[in-house]
Order: sequence, then structure tokens, then C-alpha cells
Amino acid sequence: PAGLVVVGASLAGLRAVEAARKSGYAGPITLIGAEPHLPYDRPPLSKDVLAQDKEPPDTTFRTQGHLRDELGVRVLLSAPAIALDPAQRSVMLADGEVPYEQVVVATGAVPRSLPGYEDHPQVLALRTVDDAHTLRAAMAAGARVLVVGCGFIGSEVASALIRHGGSVTMVELADVPLVRAVGEETGAYFAQLHRDNGVDLRLSCKVQQITESTGGLAVSLSDGSSVEADLVVVGLGAVPATSWLTSSGIGLELDQSVSADAGLRTTLPDVYAAGDVVTWENGQFGRRMRLEHWTSAAEQGAVAARNAVGGQEQYETVPYFWSDLHGKRIQFVGVHGTTTTTVQDADSRVVLYHADGTLLGALTVAQPRLTMKLRKIIAGGGPVADALALLSVAGLR
Ligand code: FAD
Repeated sequence: PAGLVVVGASLAGLRAVEAARKSGYAGPITLIGAEPHLPYDRPPLSKDVLAQDKEPPDTTFRTQGHLRDELGVRVLLSAPAIALDPAQRSVMLADGEVPYEQVVVATGAVPRSLPGYEDHPQVLALRTVDDAHTLRAAMAAGARVLVVGCGFIGSEVASALIRHGGSVTMVELADVPLVRAVGEETGAYFAQLHRDNGVDLRLSCKVQQITESTGGLAVSLSDGSSVEADLVVVGLGAVPATSWLTSSGIGLELDQSVSADAGLRTTLPDVYAAGDVVTWENGQFGRRMRLEHWTSAAEQGAVAARNAVGGQEQYETVPYFWSDLHGKRIQFVGVHGTTTTTVQDADSRVVLYHADGTLLGALTVAQPRLTMKLRKIIAGGGPVADALALLSVAGLR
């Protein structure tokens, strides 16, 4: 039986199979995953899983029984898809093929490695539950860690290490961290937050060479210094996992993500895409976007699957992302604008991004209740004045 085939057994893939069933689809469903694990949640991997003062949580979303017996989904694990053949309508695995009527591509993204150290056993990225447990064990053994890249994941790792008594050096090539994501001023705020909490942050600096030294690694940096470490954590971002699609003829964007329309349809018939792997037309802002955010991956998985089995939805969203750094909840909604207005008090901070008087985005620090209200203003195309009024009611201004 062919039916619906979902490639990628993580958040978007899980939500796809759940939504297909919930919408009444009764045909066969196959969920194909490269990892040996059932779908699990990634945000805790750089947060709770690294907290040494408690047992690591089980981040698995659903049991095998739930997927098989309640949803009637055939789950193939440790089974990376190696190709998609649109003429034969099948997904190729190393040891066979899975025919499809419709496919949802939900293969996510793979972390960038540090060039030259791809296979080094003490140089690791954090993407999978196995990576997180390796890092947790190293932390427990008192490893000295060097974090390369001050993006959100690198920053969360640094924050978790510091909170649990470790010492961390973090190296960032840019002179302001996260500058592309949040702008200069807020990037500088994050740099200060790291330093105030004891991270040895080296900006405008990169790793030059890693050599074995007695009892660890010697990492030489472009500022002329050398750092002793037991483990290097690479946080240089992630690239869409589409190498398996090269021979399929599917349309890809310049960044190698799968190209899709407003309904998450790709350029191949009956092939849809969702999650970190896709660039789609987000009607909310009238522009093409690729997000690497939990909420949109979950929602896109559901929309892609419903459309695959006959729906006609468009996926529009005001992007939303959160992160936890040094005990503070950071949240971002919307998109960046060139003009910013920042308000703050002792513990919290709100940055509004706007253009021509319209609120486009907001970054909040320790203001979870304001975030969703700001998101509503952005969704309605509301004026920045409404946001400022909201902030002043909250006593921030
Ligand atoms: P993924 O979760 O990447 O899953 C893709 C799956 O497809 C993987 O299991 C992969 O093994 C599998 N796969 C790949 N290639 C193949 C193939 N050829 N065949 C079969 N299977 C394949 N987002 C937030 O909004 N807030 C956070 O605080 C946050 N924290 C994060 C912390 C960490 C450490 C990480 C890694 C991510 C975090 N994210 C966060 C991002 C969020 O987890 C992702 O946006 C989300 O996981 C994307 O889901 P996805 O299903 O599209 O892709």
C-alpha cells in the first residue's frame, strides 16, 4: 500500500502524521526516520538535559504504541531516505523502497561542522538527543568546554555550563553576537549578559587550530591566545537536510532548502515540505521565509499533511521563537525592522522593530505575558504606537 509517506521523524513529521489522521485520512501512513529514536523534542536538549542537578528528562513525544496502535502509523527508524523518485513515486531507502501517493518532506536541518574537524571525537555539535547526553556526561566529568559560535544554541550551552559550575570560553567571529538575528544594540546586550554571568566571550575571534595536548585539547584562536579545553561545542547554525533530494529534481532555494508555495507544496506533484527544511511563501508578510523555530515546524507539519490528503490551506504566521539564557526567557516575534525602540527596567527588556510606524517584530527578555500581545499587534498590522501603549501600561517606558 502506498498512501502518505512522511520523511523525517521529528517534530514536523510527527505533527504531520497526527494531523493527517485527525483530519479523517484513513489510508496507510509511513513515517521514516534516520535516527534510531522515536520523535523527540529538541529545545530541552540545550536546556533541561544539560541541568546537572536533576535527572535528564525523557524528551520523547509519543510511544511506539501510540503511533502504531492508536494512529495506525508504520514507523521505520534508523532508515534514512537516500533518494526520492518522483517518476516511480517512491522513497528510496538503503535496503528497499517505500511507494507513496503523497509525501511530506520533514527532514529538518543538520548542524554545520567546524571545517577541518568534521570527524574529531572531541568536537561536537548539539542537534540530537545523543549529542546532548554526550555533552551532559562530559559536563558531569568536569570538562572544560569551548563553544564556537554565539548563536542561540551556542549561547544556551554556555549558559547551562555556567549555571552548573563549569567554565566556558565562547568564540564568535562577529564583533556583536546575534547581530543578524537581533541587531547591534540587542546583540551587545546579549554579549554583556554572557559576560556578567561569567562567560569568557571572545568577539571578532575565530578558532585557528585544534591540537591534542596533555590531557585535553589546545585550541589556538585568531586573537593570538590559546585555550585549553576537553570538548569543543560547535554552534555555527544548521543547513537544510536535503542532500538526499539532489537526484529528485525538486526545486531548492540557494540555501538548499526545499522551495514551497503558500500551501507548502513543493515543485514536485504530491510532494509537500514542512519545518526547518522548507522555504515557503509566508502571506502574513508577503515574503519567502525559512524558519528554524519549534512552533512553525509543528504547525507546518500539520498543514502540509492536511494539504497532502486533500486540504487547501495556506500557512501564514508571525514567526515565534524562544530561548533561555542565564535564567532569562528570551522571546522573539515577527521579523526585524531597521528602526528599533528599546524599553527596559532592571530585569526585563523589550525591543520593538518597526518600519513606517508599523510594528514588525519584538524581542522580549523576561516579559512572557507581553510577547503574545505584541504578536497579536504584529498579526493585525498594528501601529508601533499600540505596542508602546501596551508597554507603558505594563510599567515599562
Ligand atoms: P528536525 O527536528 O531537525 O528533524 C528532522 C528529522 O529528520 C531528524 O530526526 C533527522 O534525523 C531526520 N532526517 C534527516 N534526514 C533524513 C533522511 N534522509 N531520511 C529520514 N530522516 C531524515 N526552537 C525554538 O523555537 N525554541 C527553542 O528554544 C529551541 N531550542 C532548540 C535547541 C536545540 C538544541 C535544537 C537542536 C533546536 C532548537 N529549536 C528551538 C529548534 C527546533 O527544535 C526546530 O525548529 C525543530 O526541531 C524543527 O523540526 P523539524 O521536524 O523540522 O526538523
